[in-house]
Amino acid sequence: MKSISYLTILGSTGSIGTSTLDVVARHPGRYRIMALTAQSQDNTLFEQCIRFTPRYAVLVDEGAAMRLEQRIAGAGLDIEVLCGAAALERVASLPEVDTVMAAIVGAAGLRPALAAARSGKKILLANKEALVMAGRVFMDVVQEHGATLLPIDSEHNAIFQALPHNYSPHHTDSLAASGVSKILLTASGGPFLNATLSALQHVTPEQACAHPNWAMGRKISVDSATMINKGLEVIEAHWLFNASADAIQVVVHPQSIIHSLVQYVDGSVLAQLGNPDMRIPIAYALAYPERIDAGAEPLDLLKVATLDFVEPDFIRFPGLALAYQALRAGGTAPAVLNAANEIAVDGFLNKQIPFLAIPRLIEDVLANITITAVNTLEDVLTADAAARVVANDLMKSTISLS
Ligand code: NAD
Ligand code: MG
Repeated sequence: MKSISYLTILGSTGSIGTSTLDVVARHPGRYRIMALTAQSQDNTLFEQCIRFTPRYAVLVDEGAAMRLEQRIAGAGLDIEVLCGAAALERVASLPEVDTVMAAIVGAAGLRPALAAARSGKKILLANKEALVMAGRVFMDVVQEHGATLLPIDSEHNAIFQALPHNYSPHHTDSLAASGVSKILLTASGGPFLNATLSALQHVTPEQACAHPNWAMGRKISVDSATMINKGLEVIEAHWLFNASADAIQVVVHPQSIIHSLVQYVDGSVLAQLGNPDMRIPIAYALAYPERIDAGAEPLDLLKVATLDFVEPDFIRFPGLALAYQALRAGGTAPAVLNAANEIAVDGFLNKQIPFLAIPRLIEDVLANITITAVNTLEDVLTADAAARVVANDLMKSTISLS
C-alpha cells in the first residue's frame, strides 16, 4: 500500500492552489493536507478548511485571520488558525510535512519556499519569482539540505520531463554532460501576440488578464501579456537546469500544446505535450516519479491539427529582452527586474500607468540601480527593497507627467 504524503499548500486560494486541491481531491487516501495558506481570502480558505480539514490554516492579514478563527470555532473544527508572514515559514517546515506546494505569487513567496528547502522538503515550485530573485541562494540551500525541487511552471515541468531521468543541475556543464545542446522554451505569446504597438498603448487590465489559453492569477496574466513572464521563465530555467542564457531559446507557439522541448546533440528533440491545464504538471510533481490522474482532458492531436512556431518580437515585447539582459548581467539584476515588474504590474492593474509603461519602468529602474554580487539572501532582499523604492518614485513621476 502506498504511504500517505503530507502536504502544505502555500497560496491555496489562488489559481495554482485550487488546481492542486482539485488533483488532491481525486486521490483520497493518498494525500493529507496539513496546512493551507492565503493572504487575506478568508471565505475561500474557510471553504477549503471544511473540505480538507488541515491541521493549520494561515492568513497573513490579521483581520481576515480573526474572522476565519471565529468561523472555524463556530463550525467546531479542530484547526489552528495562524496569522502573519512568519507563520508561512512555520507551516512550510513542519516536521510532519513531506511536500510543500509553493504557489504564493511574487516576492512574498521567497522566504516560505526557502524555509521548505532548508527543511529538506519535496518542493513543488510554482512561485517562479523566488528563483528569479534568489536563484543562486535557493539552489544552494536545496542542495545543502537535500531538498527535492520539482518545477510546476508548465514549461519547466516539460523540460524536467524531457531531460535525462537522473539529470542534476548541481554540476558544472550539466547540460553538455547530458548531451543537451539547447532548451526550447515555448511561449503562447499572450493575448496581444498579434497586436500592433499602437494598439498596445491602450490595452486595459481586463484585456491583459484575458489569456487565450490559460486561466491564471492577475499578476502572471499581465506578465504573460507583456511577455515578461517568458523572461522570468528564461531566468527560472537558467537556475533550475544550470543553462546559460545562450542555451535557452524562446519559441512562440500560440496553441500552448507543446509545453517546451529539449534539443540533444544528436539532433533529437524531446517535447512534452498536453492540453493547457496546470493540473497536468501539478499531478506529475505530486506523484513523482509515478503518474496519476490529473482530471485533464486527454490530448486529441487530430482536434488540435496544427502546431505553429514563430520567433518572439523583442520590439513589441521589450520585457523579454530586458530579462535576458538581467540574466547576463547577473548578481542582483534579476531581483531588481522582478521587483520593478511587481511594482509596475500593480500600477497597471490599478490604472496608474499604461501597459507599455511596464517594460519602460523596469528598464529605468535597472538603469538607476547599481547591480552588485549576490552572496547571501540579505543581498537579494536589499536589492529588492531598493528597486521598489526607485520604481515607486519613477512611477509617481510618470503619473505626474501624464
Ligand atoms: P494567484 O494570484 O491566483 O494566487 C496567489 C496566492 O498567493 C493566493 O492564495 C494568495 O492569497 C497568496 N498570496 C498573494 N500575496 C501573498 C502574500 N503577500 N503573502 C502570502 N500569500 C500571498 O496566483 P497564481 O496564478 O496561482 O500564481 C501563483 C504562482 O504560480 C505565481 O508565482 C505564478 O507565476 C506561478 N504560476 C502560475 C501559473 C498559473 O497557471 N496560474 C502557471 C505557472 C506559474
Ligand atoms: Mg509558464
